[in-house]
Amino acid sequence: MSTLEIKDLQVSVATDDGPKEILKGVTLTIGDGETHAIMGPNGSGKSTLAYSIAGHPKYDITGGEVLLDGEDVLAMSVDERARAGMFLAMQYPVEVPGVSVSNFLRTAKTALDGEAPKLRTWVKDVNAALEQLNLDPTFGTRSVNEGFSGGEKKRHEIAQLELLNPKVAILDETDSGLDIDALKIVSEGVNRFRAQPGKGVLLITHYTRILRYIQPDQVHVFVDGRIAEQGGPELAEQLEAEGYDKYIKASAAAH
Ligand code: ADP
Ligand code: MG
Ligand code: MG
Repeated sequence: MSTLEIKDLQVSVATDDGPKEILKGVTLTIGDGETHAIMGPNGSGKSTLAYSIAGHPKYDITGGEVLLDGEDVLAMSVDERARAGMFLAMQYPVEVPGVSVSNFLRTAKTALDGEAPKLRTWVKDVNAALEQLNLDPTFGTRSVNEGFSGGEKKRHEIAQLELLNPKVAILDETDSGLDIDALKIVSEGVNRFRAQPGKGVLLITHYTRILRYIQPDQVHVFVDGRIAEQGGPELAEQLEAEGYDKYIKASAAAH
């Protein structure tokens, strides 16, 4: 089971001019087994939402709650969030020179489970995950993110997702910088993950094209730190045709 509830979340960042409010009360619930898409223009606060749920220290939570199966996520350390079943790709954004992909994945899995995975089955699992993502087996020996192409970074994220197998995955712009073949491969990985019972996905994207491969249960339009509209997959099609303009204007008029 996995239900992620975000309730009236308010988040600020420190700037030279003092705190700047970025999330202005975000409420949404990803029910058991659901995939939700958040779409919105650049600068609307999508990544701030993801980083805040991930526990990035740059973001001050000034109000609201995040609950995973009723447990207070915001009270947890970053490690505790992972152990509770949250997967946040941007927890590992940087190059880790000298740490191979294989060792990195094994360390993450060990931290998650509290014990190291059995080596023989683990190697098999890693190789299978890499192969499904069309990554060469030698990819496992490369240093994490060092010289990775955009597509390799995203595929590495999905390899992590499949091997760590969390309850809820938050994927921020997983489609950015992917050509159409890589987009299909990455989408298939996400779809394998969510085909399992009870898995939740929050898919953050600027473009509708990934939603042709990963059909969301609900779409939320994000404007200026708030949800401006919600609907089914048809909302994504409407955005593709009309853009965000209407919502940006309505939000500016209302606030
Ligand atoms: P999105 O992912 O939707 O493009 P972000 O969450 O990255 O949006 O950013 C939302 C807003 O918050 C933007 O206006 C951005 O400039 C601002 N912002 C984010 N981080 C900081 C920061 N550390 N200092 C000042 N402004 C920030
Ligand atoms: Mg957002
Ligand atoms: Mg962003």
